[in-house]
Amino acid sequence: MIYNSIEIFCPYCGEVNTIDAEISGNVSEQLITDCEICCRPVEIILRVDAEGNIYAEVKNEEGF
Ligand SMILES: [Zn+2]
Repeated sequence: MIYNSIEIFCPYCGEVNTIDAEISGNVSEQLITDCEICCRPVEIILRVDAEGNIYAEVKNEEGF
């Protein structure tokens, strides 16, 4: 299990949110968290690289 704190940018208000990410193995994981600032649901895809670093990819309704 890889555990990390990750900063993501809210696609709606642009503010930084810190999330605690947990991911097992090399599987990418999808989660939804509410932005702490604007309370809108932010869809996040977590990916792990070969060195075990977690990267967060943020999706939004506009699809970019
Ligand atoms: Zn926000």
